[in-house]
Amino acid sequence: MAVQYMTSIGDTGQIEKLLRDDQLDGHKEARIVFAGRSNAGKSSLLNALTRTKAAHISREPGKTRKVNLFFCSLLERVVVDLPGYGFAKRNKTEKRLWGELITAYINADKKNIDWVVLVTDSRHGPADSDLEAMKFFQQLGLPVCLVLSKIDKLNQKQLNSRKKEVKEILDGHSPDKVYWTSSSKGKGVREVVKEITNG
Ligand code: GDP
Repeated sequence: MAVQYMTSIGDTGQIEKLLRDDQLDGHKEARIVFAGRSNAGKSSLLNALTRTKAAHISREPGKTRKVNLFFCSLLERVVVDLPGYGFAKRNKTEKRLWGELITAYINADKKNIDWVVLVTDSRHGPADSDLEAMKFFQQLGLPVCLVLSKIDKLNQKQLNSRKKEVKEILDGHSPDKVYWTSSSKGKGVREVVKEITNG
């Protein structure tokens, strides 16, 4: 199988045990972190990139608020799926997740992370919460690849005007790369794979 579920990190105490000599749960391959608001299309993109249905595992009860780890032999990377953010304007659970668990994991594994792929819906994003997340990763020195998903839901005219708007929204934020994709039509997916596996 191209993607193998490894484990889930649910509390900071697990991190030290999982991370030994830069190996994460026994894997030395570089990490690619996936982040996005709930419903952004993160799971669909992950499935399209890895050509599996692995991301549905992250949706199982008990895993939605954890950092879920997969090994993808196709990409030769450890895929780190972060919990979705931005629902109900930063509730307590979400603040705790980002303030403690995610921050602790990212800091501990930072030098092994090649890319952060931040997914946002091309019809609406990036929202303030996406820009906040981007800033969080950039301040830690991590390269961010912003993916605007679901472009099949826009016609050419809408796509062109969204591209202009997004450029303005991103002014002063500058992600390292920007891609426009459709996981359902397979558009832009190969380009993202190429980017994140060459980095
Ligand atoms: P997540 O919560 O970020 O993991 O989002 P999902 O990947 O589960 O997607 C949320 C919804 O958007 C689902 O109903 C998907 O079928 C839909 N979706 C995701 N990607 C695409 C896409 O490229 N095109 C279209 N039309 N729908 C998509």
